[in-house]
Amino acid sequence: MKNIILIGAQGAGKGTYAQILKNDLNIPHISTGDMFREAIKAETPVGIEAKNYIDQGQLVPDTVTIKLVDERLARDDCKDGFMLDGFPRTLAQAEALDKITDITHVIILDVREDVVLQRLGGRIQCRNCGFIFHKTNLPPKVEGVCDKCSGELYTREDDQPEAIKKRLAIFYEQSGPLVDFYDKKGIVHHADANNPVPREVADDILKLIRTE
Ligand code: ADP
Ligand code: ZN
Repeated sequence: MKNIILIGAQGAGKGTYAQILKNDLNIPHISTGDMFREAIKAETPVGIEAKNYIDQGQLVPDTVTIKLVDERLARDDCKDGFMLDGFPRTLAQAEALDKITDITHVIILDVREDVVLQRLGGRIQCRNCGFIFHKTNLPPKVEGVCDKCSGELYTREDDQPEAIKKRLAIFYEQSGPLVDFYDKKGIVHHADANNPVPREVADDILKLIRTE
């Protein structure tokens, strides 16, 4: 069983590595950010409740988030394991998760602040399909236009430099107690996410998971 948590600052590349690893490990990638965005699009009760918090760059209340994850982990595709991305983010969420299931590996993605600022600062997203490009690392063929669907590309409000610093500050503040919680269980591993080649970081994570 591989019940994995990925912890890393915004821009560390959690989603990118999880997308690669879900094929290697054959377990689902569960991103609370993606789940909230889908719920908002579908205008479900959870989506309606979460929208205001997310638009303001705040965390969604723990009760809402924990219920969402609890229901997702109960689904059949999680029986051999899962990769959680973006959850838990608070100590209360980690304690709640502890009652739902046993976590086997916590992977901390170490990344320098200047690397994060460069990655997030250049991020541009399609308004229509949500695909993420990067001004220098993954530029679209035509400036301002999505390669996949011809939708309009824009910079997220929370990817402006000041907003990035605020989100990072929240992450650093919340992640300390979270890491301590899992450190005590002896299941924490570190991967170097400064490496600009996602496949190589994903391979480092695979090694950490498979040596046990
Ligand atoms: P980022 O990590 O870049 O902020 P995500 O896609 O992971 O982006 O999350 C987007 C938003 O969804 C967060 O800013 C927050 O409002 C909400 N969210 C996601 N995961 C959680 C969580 N575990 N607890 C509370 N809110 C969350
Ligand atoms: Zn698009």
